[in-house]
Amino acid sequence: MGGTFDPIHHGHLVAASEVQSLLDLDEVVFVPTGQPWQKEGRDVAPAEHRYLMTVIATASNPRFTVSRVDIDRPGPTYTLDTLRDLKKQRPDAELYFITGADALSQILSWKGVDQLWDLAQFVGVTRPGHELSDKGLPKDKVVLKEVPAMSISSTDCRDRVREEEPVWYLVPDGVVQYINKYQLYLPGGGELQEDK
Ligand code: ATP
Ligand code: MG
Repeated sequence: MGGTFDPIHHGHLVAASEVQSLLDLDEVVFVPTGQPWQKEGRDVAPAEHRYLMTVIATASNPRFTVSRVDIDRPGPTYTLDTLRDLKKQRPDAELYFITGADALSQILSWKGVDQLWDLAQFVGVTRPGHELSDKGLPKDKVVLKEVPAMSISSTDCRDRVREEEPVWYLVPDGVVQYINKYQLYLPGGGELQEDK
């Protein structure tokens, strides 16, 4: 499951857990993006913070892991490279790429979309406020799954932090504490040691 995870929230975690169970997957690999090409123009928290929040959020689930492939690759993140790198690391694995309805509807604009279908099956999950559809996508490469509706977005979580509203129970407790510790999403906050 790829994402900016800025921050990771319970919508991501429920989607991943549901798909793991529905498809009986051995492992769900969360892959925080490096520099997300769709999000140029807005400040994204440093990759290391997003990576660590993802580790904290997934640590208790034995089937959840986090990969650094996208944050360690220089340049913008493209799912084509993500899947190629994961395939190299796990040559025998059958890959499924989990994506919410909003991201699935964008997939035809992704780099190298024609090659994506050979690398993985795509699992589109429902997301409140977005229509889940496989229109225009190869039917044998895409499965659609309904998951419990979690009306949570990272954008809303960031706005809440900025407005001093709570994000408790929208994101895991450890992520709330991490955001507070590093003052993420506040003016002047979110600096990493090496930035100083
Ligand atoms: P932002 O508001 O910054 O775009 P986001 O909440 O959309 O953040 P992303 O990191 O962009 O989170 O999403 C990663 C993946 O998780 C995408 O495929 C997205 O569709 C999916 N996703 C995010 N939130 C939900 C949710 N509440 N329910 C189902 N899928 C979700
Ligand atoms: Mg998003």
